Amino acid sequence: MKIICIGRNYADHAKEMDSPIPSVPMFFMKPDVAVLRPGTPFYYPAFSKDIHFECELVVKINRVGKNISERFAHKYYSEIGLGIDFTARDLQKQCKEKGHPWEIAKSFEGSAPLSKEFIDKSTLDLANLQFSLTQNETQVQLGSTKDMIFNIDQLIAYVSQFMTLKKGDLIYTGTPAGVGPIAIDDELKGFIGEKEMFMVRVK
Ligand code: ZN
Repeated sequence: MKIICIGRNYADHAKEMDSPIPSVPMFFMKPDVAVLRPGTPFYYPAFSKDIHFECELVVKINRVGKNISERFAHKYYSEIGLGIDFTARDLQKQCKEKGHPWEIAKSFEGSAPLSKEFIDKSTLDLANLQFSLTQNETQVQLGSTKDMIFNIDQLIAYVSQFMTLKKGDLIYTGTPAGVGPIAIDDELKGFIGEKEMFMVRVK
């Protein structure tokens, strides 16, 4: 199983990061051990002092495919979940400055909290699907698929040009504005619409 994460897929987040709006999707990867299983706390790692949350809709690939056309991409996923792309912003900044890969800032163990449940996409309005994150009961992020720069089908078409997608692969589809730092004892809850999808405690 592989985890593909899309960067800068919401214009308001690209703006808050002082990053240009991409003309093609941008992606990076996390290893399978990045998944933080539901109910498991996130232990603040010693190598960073500035871990940020990025709440993202997660697409689960349901069949194998390569060079998938946008037109047929909808056949390759049937469920949508929710996760966080934890980012060591301090390390990411250092990597960017040195022109190095981002891996250490993005791909560390536990950096991908994931909802236990995935929702059947046929029950969702994928053109305007709202999701949100609360930090200690305060809403910090609110996004909708309508603000994606590249929609899910376009992302699948793009990524599958470079690598075969397999059943069980996950695509974290990018975060809207509002990203911010976490602290020990935080409680982060993610929602699709009104439905609570996950709760992560920071220890
Ligand atoms: Zn992200």
